[in-house]
Amino acid sequence: MRVLVINSGSSSIKYRMFNAEDFTVLAAGLLERVGEADSRLTHHWLSASGEYGETVYDRQIQNHREGLMLVDAALAESGSLGSLSELFGVGHRVVHGGEVFHKPTLIDKTVIEAIRKLIPLAPLHNPANLAGIEASMEHLPNVPQVAIFDTSFHQTMPQHSFLYALPYELYTEHHVRRYGFHGTSHQYVSKKAAEHLGKPLEGLNIITLHLGNGASAAALKGGRSMDTSMGMTPLEGLMMGTRCGDLDPAIHFYLWRSSGISNEGLESLLNHQSGLRGICGVNDMREIQHMADQGNPRALLAMDMFCYRVKKYIGAYYAVMGRVDAIVFTGGIGENAPRIRKGACKGLDPLGILLDDEKNESRSKDVFEIQRTEGSVRLLVVPTNEELEIAQQTVKKILPSTAEKS
Ligand code: AMP
Repeated sequence: MRVLVINSGSSSIKYRMFNAEDFTVLAAGLLERVGEADSRLTHHWLSASGEYGETVYDRQIQNHREGLMLVDAALAESGSLGSLSELFGVGHRVVHGGEVFHKPTLIDKTVIEAIRKLIPLAPLHNPANLAGIEASMEHLPNVPQVAIFDTSFHQTMPQHSFLYALPYELYTEHHVRRYGFHGTSHQYVSKKAAEHLGKPLEGLNIITLHLGNGASAAALKGGRSMDTSMGMTPLEGLMMGTRCGDLDPAIHFYLWRSSGISNEGLESLLNHQSGLRGICGVNDMREIQHMADQGNPRALLAMDMFCYRVKKYIGAYYAVMGRVDAIVFTGGIGENAPRIRKGACKGLDPLGILLDDEKNESRSKDVFEIQRTEGSVRLLVVPTNEELEIAQQTVKKILPSTAEKS
């Protein structure tokens, strides 16, 4: 039994195929530049001897449907994995589920239309996700397919936390509210943290910090999201690689009046030219650390700002929950940048948040702890695995529905 996870972008398809029983990765790949003359598929596959092989296919792929056909051909060429039509199921990552989708959902025409209706809330992402879904439904009409939404995990937030202090009608008539993103990651790492701590998730208060090129924090009570830093869009909250995070909305009007910048110009400025890049010119944390080591003051400032903002959210979510059992660091930066973890926890001793410098320098592919023994809050580094979470949720969703049919 095999399950395929598809993360479809506007010009790319990222996929990972799992054994649906033990969730080992059987194949994975990335098709880039769909619709251009120089499309490329890089396909990895697990051989019978347990080694991963790599094959690169350079050929023009016009659309997502052709892309999936190439993935199918690549699987057939790479041994005993069979064809996509024999799959147990397909799980699709979908960025925005609005208030419509609270959980993994079996895809049919009605669901596709509902996702389409949500395009105004995620104009860049939902159309790209839909392109993958429609191609996959067409190519594999007999395989059950499940949509897993980035937003659905945060649908448990109470009104007082998801509403903006705007006229209420903007919520009821225009759906303006906090939705939150990275839900699959926050959910996955919180479950892993509970497993590691040997305690039921239902009894734990956890702050999860997904720190990657996109970054978000979440306050989780008993495994349910109470608040999260990303908002109606993934622009709000923490400082990110190229996104500004929290901002006084009046800056928008000020810039418009003083420089005449257009809405499109501002949107691009706040999404692509801000965050770490805005401060020091670079958005990659590894490079920023290197620049900081060379004494670059802007790189140092960018790191300080990044850590400060994370610390502010830790404080806010501590207050929201009243008691915190664990703080989880994940994402490319959260998992790999001890300096940032240290900066984020600096000065939080009175809250029982005490980082152990030596443990903090450890590296592992598994969960590890980085707090001092006298700290009351467990500090965990948990590698995230959104594809695995999507695969597991897909299988869980399909199993009862296949049982019902038989
Ligand atoms: P993600 O979006 O989760 O893939 O994370 C990407 C971010 O993680 C980039 O800013 C990378 O520079 C950062 N990152 C990855 N590895 C490291 C590392 N070893 N040290 C510092 N930052 C890292």
